[in-house]
Amino acid sequence: MPQTMNKIVFIDRDGVINVDLWKYVERWQEFRFEPSAPAAMKALTDAGFDIFIISNQAGVGDGVFTAEQLRDVHEKMIGELTARGVRIKGAHYCTHSKHGNCSCRKPRTGLFEKAVEGVRFKKSETFFVGDKATDIEAGKNFGVRTILVRTGYGAETEKKLTPATRPDYVVDDLGAAADRILAAQADTKSKTDVGGSYEN
Ligand SMILES: [Mg+2]
Ligand SMILES: [Zn+2]
Repeated sequence: MPQTMNKIVFIDRDGVINVDLWKYVERWQEFRFEPSAPAAMKALTDAGFDIFIISNQAGVGDGVFTAEQLRDVHEKMIGELTARGVRIKGAHYCTHSKHGNCSCRKPRTGLFEKAVEGVRFKKSETFFVGDKATDIEAGKNFGVRTILVRTGYGAETEKKLTPATRPDYVVDDLGAAADRILAAQADTKSKTDVGGSYEN
């Protein structure tokens, strides 16, 4: 018997899960969910996806806010999502300076690699949802499929797409992205049901 493949999805935080403030979210009082986001993540949870948040938070490394503030926002966000039936499998934040040379700040792939250590999954069936060109580049660098949402910086990003930053899909928000991911999964499943199982 083949080992079970995990179904996973990577999601950027600011501008996708929560409203981008055009500055860092420094405290919980500033945090507002994007309207479609909690229900979208609930649908993905219910469909058996492991959700990983992949977020650059260089404000910590650059001294704009503290690691304790980031943790507080994180914990309260998780609390709210848990209360709404969402399960977040992991959240990975790059807190290094924008000006540094770490291996995890998107478009680099360190956060993704950390998230999936020891996890069996198919990159070709896995999506990263983000709102910036660096998100799309990061997803491409890691070898997964990409969805650009028009929330946050997404509408601006869409106007400036290049071959290097062209995502697989552009959709309005995380709700539409979740619909897209669930539809792709249904396609894969029906092919598998008809023809047996395929390994990439
Ligand atoms: Mg973002
Ligand atoms: Zn980093």
